[in-house]
Order: sequence, then C-alpha cells, then structure tokens
Amino acid sequence: MQVTQHIRDAKDTLVSFEVLPPLKGKTIQSIFEHLDPLMEFKPSFINVTYHRSEHVYKKRADGTFEKVEVRKRPGTVGICAAIMNHYKVDAVPHIICGGFSRQETEDALIDLAFLGIDNALILRGDAARNESNFEPEPNGHRYAIDLLRQVVHLNNGEYLEEDIRNGGRTNFCIGVAGYPEKHSEAPNLDSDISYLKAKVDAGADYITTQMFFDNSKYFDFVQRCREAGIHVPIIPGLKPLTSKKQLNVLPRTFHVDIPNDLSVAISSAKTDAAVEQVGTEWLAQQSRELKAAGVPVLHYYTLGKPHVIYNAVKSIL
Ligand code: FAD
Repeated sequence: MQVTQHIRDAKDTLVSFEVLPPLKGKTIQSIFEHLDPLMEFKPSFINVTYHRSEHVYKKRADGTFEKVEVRKRPGTVGICAAIMNHYKVDAVPHIICGGFSRQETEDALIDLAFLGIDNALILRGDAARNESNFEPEPNGHRYAIDLLRQVVHLNNGEYLEEDIRNGGRTNFCIGVAGYPEKHSEAPNLDSDISYLKAKVDAGADYITTQMFFDNSKYFDFVQRCREAGIHVPIIPGLKPLTSKKQLNVLPRTFHVDIPNDLSVAISSAKTDAAVEQVGTEWLAQQSRELKAAGVPVLHYYTLGKPHVIYNAVKSIL
C-alpha cells in the first residue's frame, strides 16, 4: 500500500522505520535481528536506504595503484522484497541519482514494480567521497527532480525506449527529501524550499525530512512550506543522539544544529549508558510533542541503536 494511503487511512500518528542495507558479507538475518523488536510498534512502512558504489585504490604487484569500484551496501531492492515477505509490511526503497544511469534506474524501478512495491523515496544522493561536488553518471540525473520525472513517466507507462510510450504503468507513490535546517548546498532556506516545491509540483506525493533535534525547526519549516504552496504531508525524520562523538559528527555530516540543552546534557553524562539515557529521553520528548501536534508519521532512523528507538517509542505509545 502507498505511504499516502496509509496516512489517509490513519486515525492517529503512524510510526515508520528506516534501515541501511548491511555491509557486503552480512546476511539478511542482520536486518531481521535489527527490526524484530521494533515490529511490536506495527510500523506502517519500512524505508531501506540506497548507497552508491565507492572508489578505492588497490595496490598492484608492481607497486602501482588500480582504481576499483566497490559496492559496500548492495541489496536495497532484495531487502525491500525480503521485508515485505517476512513481515507483511510495506517497504519504501530509496532510489538515488548518484552512481546510476537512467537505464539502470529504469531497470531497478521495473524490478520493484514486479515485486509489488508501490513506494519510492527519490533522492539525489551525496557527492562521491573523491568529489567535491555532486557529479551525475554519464546519462544519469543531476537533481532529484530529474529522477522524479523519470518515475512519473514510468507511472504513465512511458519508458526510456522511444517505442514504449503506452507500456505497463507503474504505481509508485513518490516521496522526496526536505531539510528543516536547509540542505548544505542551498544558498538559503527560501531557495531550498522553492526547489522542494518544484519537486512537489512535478509529482512528489509527500516529503520526509532530514533529522532535527529541535522541534521548532520542523514546525517553522512546515509553516514556510505551507506558505510557499506545498500542501503534501511532511513526515518528520527522527534520530537519537547516542554518543558524545555525534555532537560533532552529526552537525558536520548532516548540517543540523544540536540544541544547547541537549549538547550540555550529553557532554556531562558520565557513562555511555547515561549518554544513551539522555538521547532516549530527548527523542521520546520530541516524539511526544510531534504526536501531540498531529504529525502524520513519526519516522525513525534506526541506524546503529535500535534499542534506543525501541525504548523511546515504547514510552510514548
Ligand atoms: P535535490 O532535491 O536534488 O537537491 C540538492 C541540492 O540542489 C539542494 O541544495 C537544492 O536546493 C538544490 N537544487 C535542487 N534542484 C535544483 C535545480 N534545479 N537547480 C539548482 N539547484 C537545485 N542519500 C543516499 O545516498 N542514500 C539514501 O538512501 C538517502 N536517504 C535519505 C533520506 C532522507 C529522508 C534524507 C533527508 C536524505 C537522504 N539522503 C540519502 C541524502 C541525500 O541524498 C542528500 O542530502 C543529497 O545531498 C540531496 O538529495 P536531495 O534529494 O535532497 O537533492
């Protein structure tokens, strides 16, 4: 079932989770072990992220180096199918521009449609590690909106091959990313919101936000989106702080602020368990306030510490 249908049918705020494909070499069991405890909360859907390949330099026997491409986290399409099969819960694959040509994207979308998956979160992806700016693949997409248009075309039965203009229609409900604290590359929030509106006008059905630790950032963002004429559901993305290291890593990586009360409480916690306790309580408090405000879904990034998410969600439901 489509994410927006879940939202339309809901009588209360829904819950959803996001998982990363395991590193190559691990089995699907690691995903199930991660998700098993969280299934108690009856998530309406589970997102599975997508990761582009990376380049590494391998030393040859003659001492020179060879540039090779590695896929560290393959398997998004298969994991979505496994989740739907195992838990009978809808899966939302992330589809990214970075590292993929239009043809590869079309093939992935066809596989997803054949598997009965009718959701996709459409993203650009970040620049590759060795690039300072995002560069699309040859015959790939530069912005999420270009990839989104490809999905819209497929939903209309228009494939890349020019002779398939009235083919089988896919039925993807399309989500896109929004950034309450602005995307790192956007010159300002107004500009970022105008590009977000363009994605919605081009066919996005809902928005899922980047993580934030101060709910007022989300509420302000929703208000500015509404004022800009964006009227689709805006799902808040939530992540717990669970280590002191994250106080520096998260702002640097995701360009989000950590409120002073939270950073002081984390810094002064004496043990790892005390840090987790602070992070759990903060997440629970954020969730409680968002739920009381009537947000459509609480979407949790579960990476690393699913038990923290478990304890926070348990305390609010
Ligand atoms: P876009 O919408 O293309 O925007 C990128 C930047 O370009 C923004 O600054 C925007 O303001 C600007 N812009 C947009 N359109 C134009 C235009 N026409 N002209 C000029 N500027 C423009 N990354 C992954 O690799 N895999 C994942 O699974 C993944 N999941 C994510 C899930 C969520 C909920 C979020 C919030 C992010 C996720 N990301 C993921 C990270 C995301 O790919 C990066 O943040 C990326 O840098 C931007 O993606 P986007 O889809 O927002 O890009």
